[in-house]
Amino acid sequence: MAEIFVVVEHRKGEVREITYQMLWKAHELCQKLSYKLTAVLIGGKDEPFINHIAERADSVIAVEGEETKNFNGDLYKEILFRLIQEKRPFLTLIGQTPWGMDFAPALSIKTGYPVATDCVDVLVENGRPKAVRQVYSGKLFSRVSFKEAEGYLVTIRSGAFPSDKVGERKAEVIKEGIPAGLPEMKKQFMAFEDTGAGAVDITQAELLVSIGRGVGEAENISPVKELADRMKGMLSCSRPVVDKNWLPKYHQVGTSGKSVKPKVYLALGISGAFQHVAGITGAGTVIAVNKDKKAPIFRVADYGVVEDLFKIVEALKAKLA
Ligand SMILES: Cc1cc2nc3c(=O)[nH]c(=O)nc-3n(C[C@H](O)[C@H](O)[C@H](O)COP(=O)(O)OP(=O)(O)OC[C@H]3O[C@@H](n4cnc5c(N)ncnc54)[C@H](O)[C@@H]3O)c2cc1C
Repeated sequence: MAEIFVVVEHRKGEVREITYQMLWKAHELCQKLSYKLTAVLIGGKDEPFINHIAERADSVIAVEGEETKNFNGDLYKEILFRLIQEKRPFLTLIGQTPWGMDFAPALSIKTGYPVATDCVDVLVENGRPKAVRQVYSGKLFSRVSFKEAEGYLVTIRSGAFPSDKVGERKAEVIKEGIPAGLPEMKKQFMAFEDTGAGAVDITQAELLVSIGRGVGEAENISPVKELADRMKGMLSCSRPVVDKNWLPKYHQVGTSGKSVKPKVYLALGISGAFQHVAGITGAGTVIAVNKDKKAPIFRVADYGVVEDLFKIVEALKAKLA
């Protein structure tokens, strides 16, 4: 039976949400195509999350050994290469994360399986996958065809699929040791260095008032901060705001910032690039204010206002005075 691999991503005893998102997509494909769903877990077999993985897959291959305790892209590549050689999965899903980006291209070269990176969907047509990617800051979707191959690799963008849906499968857990005869690893794990939460921890906020480049200049932030204070919320931002030194890095939401889960996320002058939106998949209600009615943020917003953000800020402040 053909098989789909999902590479489990975990750190410090916690599984990363991208894993559940990929397992959900793989479940949908396996159900449609009657394929087997195999989760590949390198390290972490004794972690409590293994049960959550097992209920979303038909088989879990848990590769254990002292060296697998911490992520090492070289080691992942070598272990996955051997598993792929042995099992010949039709499709392997890998997170489009610093982990996945570390080993997926090298794994593609080593296996000869083509890779499509940073995909937001995968379809299977006439026995071959098609990867869906966003272009022009999410304004268009493109479908990527693969050249014919025995198997295919796809890296999946965080937030592309739900993480809370469970495919209701029941996996047997197959424990394996690190294969013998691996080449010497060029990369070595040194240590975890936490960047720290900073002066404010936006990941714990129930209400975030978030500003983007649309705020125009640093001096314009203080009226928005006033609004955030009146609403008893915290101030967060998109990356250009940090790049311009208008706010410190610990305010940044997105793939290279923080993932947040407030009950309400008020996005002011933020276009909605995927790197930003990936950080708000856990948010409750998203409200966007943008003067461009075609801004991609409106695709993910529950409520949208096409207006100058400062008009809305002043109106809200007046209401809360
Ligand atoms: C590797 C990588 C990692 C990245 N990581 C992140 C990340 O973690 N977080 C992140 O945010 N970005 C990240 N980015 C950058 C990302 O691609 C976008 O460039 C960024 O999110 C855009 O920020 P923005 O929406 O504030 O700015 P813009 O895209 O410039 O959008 C500004 C918006 O404001 C609107 N606007 C302007 N004036 C007003 C006004 N007066 N009132 C209302 N609306 C107005 C405009 O219509 C526009 O839609 C990353 C990029 C890369 C390559």
